[in-house]
Amino acid sequence: MQLIWLRSDLRINDNTALSAAMAKGPTVALWVASPGQWLAHDDAPCKVDFWLRNLRDLRKALDTLNVPLLIRHTDTWQQVPQVLAEVCKAQRIQAVHWNDEYGVNETLRDTTTRAQLEHAGIAVHSHLDQLLFQPGTLLTRAGHYFQVFGQFRKACLEHLHRSLPSQVPPPKPQAPLGIAHDPIPQAIDGFDKPPQPLSNHWHAGEDEAQARLTRFVDEAIEDYQTQRDLPARPGTSQLSPYLAAGVISPRQCLHAALASNQGEFDSGNEGARTWVNELLWREFYKHILVGYPQVSRHQPFREHTRNLPWRNAPSDLKAWEEGRTGFPIIDAAMRQLLETGWMHNRLRMIVAMFLSKNLLIDWRQGERHFMRHLIDGDLAANNGGWQWSASTGTDSVPYFRIFNPVTQSQRFDPQGRFIRHWLPELSKLDDKSIHLPKKSADLFAGNDYVSPIVDLDSSRQRALAAFKALSN
Ligand code: FAD
Repeated sequence: MQLIWLRSDLRINDNTALSAAMAKGPTVALWVASPGQWLAHDDAPCKVDFWLRNLRDLRKALDTLNVPLLIRHTDTWQQVPQVLAEVCKAQRIQAVHWNDEYGVNETLRDTTTRAQLEHAGIAVHSHLDQLLFQPGTLLTRAGHYFQVFGQFRKACLEHLHRSLPSQVPPPKPQAPLGIAHDPIPQAIDGFDKPPQPLSNHWHAGEDEAQARLTRFVDEAIEDYQTQRDLPARPGTSQLSPYLAAGVISPRQCLHAALASNQGEFDSGNEGARTWVNELLWREFYKHILVGYPQVSRHQPFREHTRNLPWRNAPSDLKAWEEGRTGFPIIDAAMRQLLETGWMHNRLRMIVAMFLSKNLLIDWRQGERHFMRHLIDGDLAANNGGWQWSASTGTDSVPYFRIFNPVTQSQRFDPQGRFIRHWLPELSKLDDKSIHLPKKSADLFAGNDYVSPIVDLDSSRQRALAAFKALSN
């Protein structure tokens, strides 16, 4: 008997470990809930709920393959090796299959599980699935992990030209095993169920993920290059929660993008090429996590930025978290996050830079808030995005390039459509003043919106001075 241990690969199509297990013989699937670990990782309640909803859908798909789904509960990953050993003993498992996950805790969990199972005479097969390239196979000439995205991307494209990672054929149904599915919990203690509108926005299941991919490729990919920075437009795929939970694979995304562009990576439609680039950013940050594990331990990539004099400013942090900074684009974005569990990429950069530069608050505070609310929360991408914005990371923005939230707002939400949607209290303002409303104390303000919590010019100077002092 074979066991597929499902983690962030909640799908039956193009699932390397599942297909490998089923090719070897009769297979049982296992999923382990570890709420103590999730809390330690700041996993968002909406993300945990998304996993459970996808599991329910996956169970139906596994039914069509006659693969029973077992569910086990542990507090943290420390107990996982023991739990797997018990399942293997009870089900007379000869080999366990899983798809690799990255991060120091994930690696420790998998290494200890492997050792315990192999000690008990059970074979373990781990597979590359979450990424296009095995970390460690794309290195600089000097044999190091890349630190600059442009160079990493070039290496990826060279490899892709030589050979494109192919999707695995769908597994064939096996004979029924006579083992019943375990019940899937409706909710997990410590993780509140998100409001219904949030769940409705993110339907679960492979069919939903594939429908989103098809819709994006048919309707939006061609204009991705011009639309992707406009938060009021549906110009991006909104596939990140599905990629993060493994409801869709990066190979499926890559093949769909190439099919829309006559199989080209670096010619043809610019939208498709740019979108493939984004898939490679996802790849890049996961390789960084493996190559430079300090980023997985809450450390800045750039050692010297450890000494930045971050401000301890709890009320500013709270105003940022709750969308009460007095800068409409920031507040609208933060409210989008709280209500939908997702934020547009341009806005993630703007709000992250505002927190880490204008407010000079430690990027780790923002990283944690994002993780606690994002349905697509992913250690590598989130950490990479935060360190990029805070200029502490690998291929980060130079510290002297600090986005001005008002000019960003004018440029990427020119008519204030996004702002009006999330801040209805400003909906009557004209297209000019919506980006920085008059102070409500002003007799002619026409709104009771909060005043800015920080002066953009002086706070910019403060950040520049703090960074400059590091290099002296
Ligand atoms: P699309 O534009 O359609 O892109 C397709 C896919 O490519 C995305 O679904 C995602 O998997 C990947 N991708 C796109 N941009 C990036 C990027 N810059 N870095 C890594 N992968 C990327 N992405 C997450 O998936 N999880 C996170 O926790 C996360 N946190 C972020 C925090 C900050 C501060 C920043 C600046 C970015 C973060 N991102 C994160 C990256 C990016 O914002 C999201 O992937 C994107 O907004 C998801 O929307 P989409 O699916 O419509 O993307």
